[in-house]
Amino acid sequence: MLTAGARGRAWIELDRAALEHNVRVLRGMLPERCALMPAVKANAYGHGAVLIAGALQQLGVGAFCVATAEEGAELRQAGIRGLILVLGCAGPEDASLLAEYDLTQTVASADHAAALNGGGRPLCVHIAVDTGMHRLGIPWDDVPALESVYRMDKLRVGGLYTHLTGAGDAFTRTQIARFYAAADRLRADGFSPGKTHLLGSYGIRRFPAAAGDYARPGIALYGAAEQDMPNLRPVLSLHARVTALHRLPPGEGAGYDLAFTARRETVLAAASIGYADGLPRCLGEGKGRALAEGRAVPIVGRICMDQCLLDVTDVPGIRAGTEVVFLGSSGQARITARDLAAASGTIPNEILSRLGPRLRRMWR
Ligand SMILES: *Cc1c(COP(=O)(O)O)cnc(C)c1O
Repeated sequence: MLTAGARGRAWIELDRAALEHNVRVLRGMLPERCALMPAVKANAYGHGAVLIAGALQQLGVGAFCVATAEEGAELRQAGIRGLILVLGCAGPEDASLLAEYDLTQTVASADHAAALNGGGRPLCVHIAVDTGMHRLGIPWDDVPALESVYRMDKLRVGGLYTHLTGAGDAFTRTQIARFYAAADRLRADGFSPGKTHLLGSYGIRRFPAAAGDYARPGIALYGAAEQDMPNLRPVLSLHARVTALHRLPPGEGAGYDLAFTARRETVLAAASIGYADGLPRCLGEGKGRALAEGRAVPIVGRICMDQCLLDVTDVPGIRAGTEVVFLGSSGQARITARDLAAASGTIPNEILSRLGPRLRRMWR
């Protein structure tokens, strides 16, 4: 059996220069007073939250958003300072994590605020305002509910934010107007909204001038936005290795259900990555590709949990140990998260955030 080497059977390489570049581009798109609060939830969209947040911190980023208190705690344990905002609806069971790790919690509704306040400990919060997403947040025009949060003795309101649906310019303008109307109304009534923020990747692309004090890019920062954004570069690449080669005569089947049948004399390579690593199973049977020696090779047969089969008949020089790229580039050839998403009927965010814990993550 072949040794996997330092990188292991399947791994992720992160491009620090690309991340740095993307930070520079996004900062350049935003008004001077607006700081980045990158979304590093879901293990930084699969990239590795500690690695990404650490690199961002070195680039002067001082605010982050995560989905859960556990994600925030992980960052603190790794030495991440500054504001860490929990976007999800953490409950009383998370109170000790929030306090211990100095996390800022989203207020998702008036009831949620009351529950957080009832926890008895002082807590920093940002209030989510529902301007049309109807996911989390106090309705933008429910002034009594918004103001009630400021009166809660244990909650210190440090910010006010909303999330855009991305449904197009007209509705986005409505959401922006609703958000700032709520902030203005609070100010008029003597409450400080604190830091305001509303733009994710979509908002930065379409309405950068509407930014408040922070912007919360996720997918754009990772260089994998579905829509084109000027010169953002992919940060992540996904690699595995050829572990075995098989020469099949015409008519010979391979893999689960013998879903692959050789139509010609075929060289089949087994590669050390599967759907448990986040490679969508629906990309088997020729629907997906990988790159080996600078060439695209089809993924054939059923993708397995830990392995997959490649038809490498047309690419000479492949042997056990050859590196295979599933996301990223090899020579002139390239596969983007957008390509994988398009081929599997989803968005790049889902492809990336499902990249599994078995993958080793490292800077290139
Ligand atoms: C995930 C998330 C973001 C980042 O979204 P992208 O589209 O990846 O930029 C920003 N804000 C909130 C509230 C989110 O949940």
